[in-house]
Amino acid sequence: MESEVNRAKTILSILRGSFQLPDISEVCVDPFKTLIRTIISQSTAEVNTRRAFERLSSKMPITPKSLAEAENRDIEEALRVAGLYKNKTLVIKSVARIILEDFGGRLDFIYSTPLNEAREKLLSLPGVGPKTADILLLFCAGRPVLPVDTHVNRVSRRLGLVPMDVKDYEGVRSRLEELYEPRDYFAVHMLFIALGRRFCRARKPVCQKCPVNALCPSAGI
Ligand code: SF4
Repeated sequence: MESEVNRAKTILSILRGSFQLPDISEVCVDPFKTLIRTIISQSTAEVNTRRAFERLSSKMPITPKSLAEAENRDIEEALRVAGLYKNKTLVIKSVARIILEDFGGRLDFIYSTPLNEAREKLLSLPGVGPKTADILLLFCAGRPVLPVDTHVNRVSRRLGLVPMDVKDYEGVRSRLEELYEPRDYFAVHMLFIALGRRFCRARKPVCQKCPVNALCPSAGI
């Protein structure tokens, strides 16, 4: 285990030198906005997520009250570029209504409620799966969780940090959380995504140019 932890640390250190890491304080200015953006991003490319979120923001304030009261067609129109826009509109309206009515219009519980309880509360919301819950907890509240998206999942397996037979979200998350210190969770999440987008793509990974190829058991796949 110790050598695995050291290898995991070396990989992270190389990635820190290869990609720019955003400041965690800049990635979440408002948990509700982050939640809506993350719902929009589901099964959607980053560029289209950004366009849809900007269009929605230009039409109405991104607040629980405003979205709960908005006409479906106004939200749909803004989200059209993101795909699955009708379904996402229903989810967004529903989540906005619940946060408004049950949580007093705020997501403040993510900061202070015991971690597992806060996670369960988020998971009870429509459209919120483990990844979305963990993004809110880590990005907005600095809680010690490591969100696993499709890139983090793929990169972790190819690098041999997570065994190939561990397939479920919780299994991948807990393995990575064991390997890394909580203070590194944000960097691991962001830098594995950067590696996955730039080199370790789902199809045709660019292993020859990958900065961690010397440490990767899958190099050359
Ligand atoms: S060497 Fe190839 S498979 Fe390994 S992390 Fe880099 S791109 Fe992915």
